[in-house]
Amino acid sequence: MFFTPRLRFLTRSLTCGLLVTASLSAAEQTPDPAVQVQDVGPNGVLVTGGAAAAVDQQARNRLPPSTLSPDERAEAVLKQMTPKERWEYVGGQQNRTRAIARLGIPEFLMSDGPLGLRRGGKHSTCYPAGPCVAATWNRDLVKAMGVAYGRDYRANGFCIALGPGVNIIRDPRGGRNFEYLSEDPYLSGTLCSSQVQGIQSQGVLATIKHYAANNLETKRNFYSAEVDDRTMHEIYLPGFRIPIIEGGAGCVMNGFNLVNGVYCSSSAYLNTEILRGEWKFTGIVMSDWTGARGPVDSMNGGLDLEMPFGKEMSPENIEKAIASGTVTQETIDTKVRRILRTCFAAGFFDREQTLPGLSTAAAGLAEIPGSMEASLAVAREGITLLKNDHQTLPWKPSEVKSLVVFGRPAEGSLGGGGSSIMSPFRSVTILKGLQAVYQKVDLVKTMPSIDEVERVPVVYEGPVRQEFFKNRNFKNAPAITRTTDAVVIKGGVNAPDEKFPKEFAARFTATIRIPKEGIYDFVVANENSDAANLQVDGKTLITSGNKNGLARLTAGTHTLVAEYLTYGRKPPNFRLGWAAAERVNSAVAAAKQADAVVFCAGFNYHTEGEGQDRTWDLGSYQQTLLEVLAPANPRTAVILFGGGATDTTGWLDHTPAFIHAYYPGQEGGTAMAEIISGTRSPSGKLPYTFPRRIEDHPSYPYFLDPADVDKNRARYEEGVFVGYRGYDAKNIEPLYPFGHGLSYTTFTYSDLKLTKTKDGKITVTYTIRNTGGKEGGEVAQVYVTPAPAPVPRPPKELKGYTKVQLKPGESSTVSVTLDRNDFAYWDVATKTWVVAPGTYGIQVSASSRDIRLRDDCQIP
Ligand code: BGC
Repeated sequence: MFFTPRLRFLTRSLTCGLLVTASLSAAEQTPDPAVQVQDVGPNGVLVTGGAAAAVDQQARNRLPPSTLSPDERAEAVLKQMTPKERWEYVGGQQNRTRAIARLGIPEFLMSDGPLGLRRGGKHSTCYPAGPCVAATWNRDLVKAMGVAYGRDYRANGFCIALGPGVNIIRDPRGGRNFEYLSEDPYLSGTLCSSQVQGIQSQGVLATIKHYAANNLETKRNFYSAEVDDRTMHEIYLPGFRIPIIEGGAGCVMNGFNLVNGVYCSSSAYLNTEILRGEWKFTGIVMSDWTGARGPVDSMNGGLDLEMPFGKEMSPENIEKAIASGTVTQETIDTKVRRILRTCFAAGFFDREQTLPGLSTAAAGLAEIPGSMEASLAVAREGITLLKNDHQTLPWKPSEVKSLVVFGRPAEGSLGGGGSSIMSPFRSVTILKGLQAVYQKVDLVKTMPSIDEVERVPVVYEGPVRQEFFKNRNFKNAPAITRTTDAVVIKGGVNAPDEKFPKEFAARFTATIRIPKEGIYDFVVANENSDAANLQVDGKTLITSGNKNGLARLTAGTHTLVAEYLTYGRKPPNFRLGWAAAERVNSAVAAAKQADAVVFCAGFNYHTEGEGQDRTWDLGSYQQTLLEVLAPANPRTAVILFGGGATDTTGWLDHTPAFIHAYYPGQEGGTAMAEIISGTRSPSGKLPYTFPRRIEDHPSYPYFLDPADVDKNRARYEEGVFVGYRGYDAKNIEPLYPFGHGLSYTTFTYSDLKLTKTKDGKITVTYTIRNTGGKEGGEVAQVYVTPAPAPVPRPPKELKGYTKVQLKPGESSTVSVTLDRNDFAYWDVATKTWVVAPGTYGIQVSASSRDIRLRDDCQIP
């Protein structure tokens, strides 16, 4: 039926040694930072930064000197390692590389990524999530953020950052979009490269992940991305290629998935042919956590380091494989060499991983200087104003005295769920940010808890049918079918007997009687990491990590189906409550009385994240509330949180201002309040297309096609026509195009000049002028329209961009240089980039659909 897998946290605890200590139900009521997440090894060891394992100092002094090259030093150390030490070295030890005390080889610590340093439950600065970073379109700023990010790692004793994430945001429903940057490979690759340069400038290695075509979370360990070679090269690989070739990224993490039938960590196509062959990558390829599959395949498929342990590449498996002749010792030595060489080159053997002037212990106690500012700077430039009818915004605090704020993200929403969850030292929520600027700001909570609604018993008409399944998928016939008088499993009530499997699914089917037409609150008790779904009259009200649902219902009877899915960690507890949504009526009254309304809507770490793709819509609760509240006050701004676009039907037409916050990091509230109050003009631009309907999105027919999901495959049949490339090719009008973002000021574009340089490059020069009354930033985008070619090509592709900050009346002349590759397509027959000679269009645009200047050039 409408089963939604939701226990990603539990799954992680089983597969990756991660323990979530807060109960999810409690966490759901509170802002993100309250969740305590600890990295725990299988034997219960807390993994933190700090002192490296003791290494014999004399042995360390005997390490090859720094006068030798990293290659020579690695070779010299390798020579001293026994075969067993080499076999062990290609497997990690929890979140670190192995130490070999006898040889003076220290362990090197690593940690997630990508929203900041995750420090085993301790605090660290939380930066804006990938899409917000990408929305800045500002390479210098992103590099500066990388510097701060690198300093956080270095100061806390970490050598390897498990980030940034750089997969393509192919579909708004992708669960990990918030860890990635953009739908466009050029924007993703260039910004990732800047961040990598920043991180690595601080003596920390960046790990770009998850290589490659890791765009789906459903069945993430099983699906095979079926992508053709041209689409790989033009869309899914440049995000990795640019930070490797230009940014010098030290590490690459493979995805959990397969590409064309081969697990990423075993893929000679990805790891050997492309990464090392085409791009000459010399760094470390590591597996995702328990993501390597098959001993010999992993050993021969280009993987260097299996994380978090050598399971497939265990010393025993390696010994056997060498003995049977399926793997050579040289293959294993090559891996060891690469790990050692990369760590020598990064300086890890020659210094303690600390920041000069700051001890690791001191670093753990307070925010690293500069990090908070870097996080704020990105939020300021990333937050994107999508709609501002009649120049509703900004709201000057001298004119707008009272604000009401709705929505859970107002109290803090730092990212989606999974390995990137952060716990910052401080966090300026939207609520706090607004309270610092406006005289009167009231948060109005509308969501009742189960305890509140339970006081009014649900009125059932006739008996309630109950079915119990011995699995969590409602597979096979129910093992128990019986009737009861209410939707509840608690204590002895309706619980299956002791012998029934702990992991089960239950379905209740009932008829309910609604006394009076109106909006009704439905709430499920959904504790202990269990999952619940609810449908009324066939319409889904609760699913995907939500507990609350809202529905408009007529008086009379309605059918209700409630589902409960448990892993049985605690005794089953499932209850359903409802009530007339009285709070919604008072919320409307509060909205009408206030000078202005801010509605924070969107996703959070329960509703999008690792291990689960997300819904296109916001869920019945937010949807219904937005429909009711949006028209209540003509001065209403909706702020969307999340790693992608969402359904806006039913409320956006009544909403004059719409802002995409993405996840704006720990300082997001300050940045947002500056933008809403007008002390700063917004300058973020969308890093992906915002669809009007999900059906319009190029990936729609293929992403999560149930038949494909069943077969563990993901077809990428839109090919290179991803995001705006597909909208352009089919001439579909999106709700907001790629690259769109409004400002409080206006800009003109002029004086386009194309100049051929001696080495055959084309310099595109243009002038941007601020013609409005406020200072502001403008992102100009350079697109290339191809000459006719033997293969179908997207009508235009982003090949350059600039961001300028201008005072009123000020102008700036900027340029972008295009080289031959910017005109090329990937030719699968010759496996090379090919330029079809002819006339190419050059467009300088304010968004992918707002072309301001254009000219042609001939490419021979
Ligand atoms: C994630 C990686 C992460 C790793 C370590 C995995 O589940 O997919 O992105 O770096 O865990 O926490």
